[in-house]
Order: sequence, then structure tokens, then C-alpha cells
Amino acid sequence: MAKLKKEKTLKGRLHIDSPLMGESLVSKEFLKKTDQQEYFRMHPDINVLKIGGQSIIDRGKEAVLPILDVLIKAKDKHKMILMTGGGTRTRHVFSIGIDLGMPPGVLSKLADKVSWQNAEMISVLLAKHGGVKIGHGDNLEQLTMFCQLGYIPITYGVPPYGYFEHPAEFGSIPPHRTDSGAFLLAENIGARSLIFLKDEKGLFERDPKKVPARDRKKLKYFDKISVRKLRKLDLDDLIIERDVLRLLERAKNVRELQVIDALNHPEDILGALEGRHVGTIIYRD
Ligand code: ADP
Ligand code: MG
Repeated sequence: MAKLKKEKTLKGRLHIDSPLMGESLVSKEFLKKTDQQEYFRMHPDINVLKIGGQSIIDRGKEAVLPILDVLIKAKDKHKMILMTGGGTRTRHVFSIGIDLGMPPGVLSKLADKVSWQNAEMISVLLAKHGGVKIGHGDNLEQLTMFCQLGYIPITYGVPPYGYFEHPAEFGSIPPHRTDSGAFLLAENIGARSLIFLKDEKGLFERDPKKVPARDRKKLKYFDKISVRKLRKLDLDDLIIERDVLRLLERAKNVRELQVIDALNHPEDILGALEGRHVGTIIYRD
């Protein structure tokens, strides 16, 4: 904590004696000292739910409406913010942008509009149940208030890096898309839980959609795995953006996340909100 020091020689003016004074804020040894035992949680009762773009919303009413029914039932018991993925339209705009040689920051700006469209659609569908679309500004400080008043806040998942998006480890797709956005919001508001609504029951050793149906039963499934182990496995493909793993390893608040099959089992959303293990849990040791 900065100490306020009153110096009599300067006629009672306040001097700020800050423990960070004169530091470059780069030294590893110094930075470790800023670690906190416990981090402040702004919205400890809010659950962050990311609704997949490709895995859910693109599938239309058959996929979306049963999920919304569960969410409407859940909202009286559980506070939540919904975040939307982009899906196929994002992939389309990415392919045009890549063809034109656009860097990740430009692609990120293109993608946020698609995720925003999905947030708009979900908020229209939920409007009569209190659905309210919000942006990434001060409204995020009002999430608990929205939920206490019976609203269901909805925002888009792409984090606001825009032109400040990081270069990707591989290729040119922005590494922080809507899974990362949901993670980062959950982390910084100190959310109660982080749940990804997708179309597979969780993480397998390979993408089950790329394995012939007859071999799918033999695929190894991970019902619970530590992020350290998972990163070591270095799987070629994942059910969640790769950067989420790196972020989870460094997280201060988020201890675990769960990926569930909300497409085939929308009722599992309620289970996950109640803290049950219904999909793949990835946790930080
Ligand atoms: P969203 O629309 O929620 O962002 P994505 O389509 O981007 O979802 O990612 C979910 C998909 O990831 C699943 O539908 C699945 O086909 C695929 N996938 C890739 N690798 C894996 C894996 N190792 N385990 C499970 N699913 C995987
Ligand atoms: Mg995705």
C-alpha cells in the first residue's frame, strides 16, 4: 500500500511514498513480491457462460431454443452473464482477410462484429425474459446488479484487443477469440464459475468429428485434467482455444473451467451451474 507522508518542511503537502517507486516493473524477483494471497472478486456470484458460435448458435433454433429454455429456468437461482461465440461467419471473414494478407489485429476487429451479431440475436430471443445486451465498458461493473434485478446480461466474446491483438504462435488467426474473452472476463471479475457450452461432451485426445464413427468409442476422453498435464500432452487440436490454457496456468482467480455438451444435453447447464461434473473440467494445480 502506498503510504501518504506528511512533510512538515513542505507546509503540510502530501508526498506519496510508493513501494513501486523507482522500479522498472520488469524484474522477476520484484514482480513476485506483488503476488497476493487472495485476489479481489468483483462479481463472486456471477457464472460466465460462453455459448459456442459454431457449436451451438450456427445450428439455429433446434440447438438454441432448448438451451435458452434452461437458462430462463436457471436465472432465478443462478446469476450469469452469457457470452457469444462467432462461428462460421467468423471463419468466412477470416478466410477473406487471410487471403488479403490481413494481420491478426485486423481479423480480430472483423470477428468481434460477428460475435456481436450473435449477442444481439440471443438478447432479442431473451428480451421478454430480461435479456439485455451490454458492451465491454462500465456495464461490466454492474453485472451483479443486472442479475439481482432479474436481467440476463449478454455480451460478445471477442476480447477488445483489436489492433493490439498478439501475434499468433501459429499462422494468422487471432489467438484470443471468444473462449479467451470469456476466460479473461471470468478471471478479472472473480466469477463463480466458467462454463463453455459446446457440442461435444468435452475433451478427447483428438477432434471426434475427424474420427470415423466406428473408431469414436476408442477415443480417449478426459473428464478431468490439470492444465499443466494438458499443455504437456501438446495435443494437435483442442475443444477450447489453446491460449486459454496458458491463461489458466497464470490465473489469479479462475481455478477451473468446464466444457459441456449443451447441444445434446441442455439440462447439463443446470448441473454445471450447480457445481456438478458433467463435462470436462480443466483445472489449475
Ligand atoms: P465454439 O463454437 O464453441 O467456439 P468450436 O467449434 O470452435 O466451438 O470448438 C468446438 C469443437 O472443437 C468441437 O465441436 C470439436 O469438434 C472440436 N475439437 C477439436 N479438438 C477437439 C478435442 N481434442 N476434443 C474435443 N473436441 C475437439
Ligand atoms: Mg471456437
